Amino acid sequence: MQNNKINLLIVDDEVTFLDSIRKSLEARDFNVIAVDRGEKAIEAAKKNPIDVALVDLKMPGINGEETLKALKAEHSWMEVVILTGHGTIDSAVECTRSGAFSYLQKPCDLNELLEALKEAFKKKVMNRRKIEEEKMDELLKIAISGSPRDILRRLKEIDQVE
Ligand SMILES: [Mg+2]
Repeated sequence: MQNNKINLLIVDDEVTFLDSIRKSLEARDFNVIAVDRGEKAIEAAKKNPIDVALVDLKMPGINGEETLKALKAEHSWMEVVILTGHGTIDSAVECTRSGAFSYLQKPCDLNELLEALKEAFKKKVMNRRKIEEEKMDELLKIAISGSPRDILRRLKEIDQVE
């Protein structure tokens, strides 16, 4: 994946929709990984540095809400936008309580989608910064009381944090 683009994971069981949204977003300079199952999305996020995930709510197997929870549990800085079909708005609202950044109703307007992805990415950048600041605070505490070896070990861990 190229570093200068936003890494986007899209999961939707409607393959035609998935394909068209992938093409639209690739044309607008996103790196896109498109999968049709929640299970595959969770796997893909383990192997790729995803910034934002766009997750369909209704899918066979692991549904959107479960996918959202699994992604947030493993990658706390990642932001997730839920895609919802007609009649499942209540569940989508519920997802924002489970950590989704926002939700969009399908079929969604491309400009609306781009706006949601931009805002979600901004939030992701802030999340990462916050995590790094917390780690630096922790390091400063060790720097006061810890041994040089502890400090070096912590620095190495901070450097490796995803
Ligand atoms: Mg679906």
